[in-house]
Amino acid sequence: MDFFSEFQPAWRSLCLTYDPSLIEWTTVCVSQLVGFLLPGLVFFMLDLLQPKWAKPWRKPAQFPTHLKLWKMVQCSIRNMLTGWILHGLYLWWAYPRTLFVVDSQLPTWKLAVGQYIGVFLLGEGLFYVFHRMMHENRWLYLKIHSIHHGTGVAPTGMSVWYGHVVDHFVFNGLPLALVTLLPAMVLQAHILVVEALSVLALVSGVVSHSGYYYREKTVYDHWAHHENSSKNLGAYAMMDLLFNSYTASR
Ligand SMILES: [Zn+2]
Ligand SMILES: [Zn+2]
Repeated sequence: MDFFSEFQPAWRSLCLTYDPSLIEWTTVCVSQLVGFLLPGLVFFMLDLLQPKWAKPWRKPAQFPTHLKLWKMVQCSIRNMLTGWILHGLYLWWAYPRTLFVVDSQLPTWKLAVGQYIGVFLLGEGLFYVFHRMMHENRWLYLKIHSIHHGTGVAPTGMSVWYGHVVDHFVFNGLPLALVTLLPAMVLQAHILVVEALSVLALVSGVVSHSGYYYREKTVYDHWAHHENSSKNLGAYAMMDLLFNSYTASR
């Protein structure tokens, strides 16, 4: 059975009614609102209000200062809006071309799963290579990536997008970041497959930066990377295990 068959008529009528460029821009914005801003704001509120019940879950226990929180929110939202504006300008300039495949025909579930896995694996490979480059090249680190690592020992969920705008367009601002955009283009993945993957990766990034732990572990312990920057260079453990840069300890 076609996994998307029930959704197909609604998607087709959307594609017949609206321009593909508008659909692409809107879905990208919505996926970032759902994957980044919404969960980011939940952790922001927890850090701002510091409810008693949340304290035992925060590791380390100290909450970020209001000034730090404000810096995170300001920078993250500035990066998000820059992405939206540049994406909109590109779509206007390249009209009627789109960056992603906005096809009124949804892929079969087998093709969708194949595209999902393909974009994920290629994207994770690129993430690891670009991230390692940012750390091993002194100039790139000092000028760009060190800003993200300047979040200190008590970052928040929103600090996943705290960093240089170049960092944002290489790693963070999914699905517009190179680590997702390039695999999606190469594999001609359907925009909804790319959005689904991006939302999950964004939520995972927000949680792994939040300082809130589920049974002593985040989705993937990215905090170990913030404490020892030669370790855990992938978004997930796969590439680090392969290249011997994984650490489970904090
Ligand atoms: Zn980080
Ligand atoms: Zn790093």
